[in-house]
Amino acid sequence: MRRLWWLLAFLLIAIPCSGGEVVQVSWSPQVLRQGDVLSVIVKPEAKVTTVKGDLDGTTIYFYEQGEGVLAGIVGMDLATSPGQHRLRVVIKDPEGRSSEQVFPVQVEAGGFEVQQLTLPQEMVELKGEILERYLAERKRINGVLNHVRPKRLWRHPFIRPVDGEITGAFGLRRIINGQDRSPHNGVDIGALLGAEVGACNNGVVVFAQELYLEGKTVIIDHGFGLYSIYMHLSEMRVKEGDEVGIGECIGLVGATGRVTGPHLHWGIRLLGARVDPFSLLRAVPSGE
Ligand SMILES: [Zn+2]
Repeated sequence: MRRLWWLLAFLLIAIPCSGGEVVQVSWSPQVLRQGDVLSVIVKPEAKVTTVKGDLDGTTIYFYEQGEGVLAGIVGMDLATSPGQHRLRVVIKDPEGRSSEQVFPVQVEAGGFEVQQLTLPQEMVELKGEILERYLAERKRINGVLNHVRPKRLWRHPFIRPVDGEITGAFGLRRIINGQDRSPHNGVDIGALLGAEVGACNNGVVVFAQELYLEGKTVIIDHGFGLYSIYMHLSEMRVKEGDEVGIGECIGLVGATGRVTGPHLHWGIRLLGARVDPFSLLRAVPSGE
């Protein structure tokens, strides 16, 4: 029943191509919230040579999801401005004729929680060598996450890496000593110390190192600009370059880095957008 609802949530739009063929474009969810993943399905009724698309200029990498069905995902960063955004689909037929359609996509505020904290200033400000180390680490991480592997490595569906209560919501805004800090760009799962953390999908480990704030961190590249990030591990069970399968243990839940207790911070980056991991679990509803 849930799947049926999900399918109904897709709005079907038929585009007549210049050659007279009809192409159906659908996407879900209909109304996005900041931090959501948008799933786009294109069904050409006749042969097309290429399907391209973008959301506000961010490329959507389409792949075959079944015979004659193309799918793609794209993320709405958690700080995307609410309002109308632009989904564009361009279809080229074998004769080289192309047709372009633009659809308005509505984005609503994420309704993220705001937390006010007062802490000793020396606890929140990094200085000297530590600040330098932190900035160097940021640069390295951004270098990893900005790379787009031109191939899809994931399969459907995605899975959560570990069981446990959500102890830190996605998008949470922390105001520390009156200052707005960067929003929480993942979810915190309060799993037990030493619990096994499974890869949320197939991919290649592109980062497995210890960071100052984030502790032992593993990043998996799933292709097409999609990355999953696992932080504060007590132990890493993979190394850079390893290929991992969905559910394969990549490390153990821990409390490394700057944390108050053991938990897994699980983040997803999709073509630069910081998106809610649970939105990714919902984003690709039908089979392979
Ligand atoms: Zn976290």
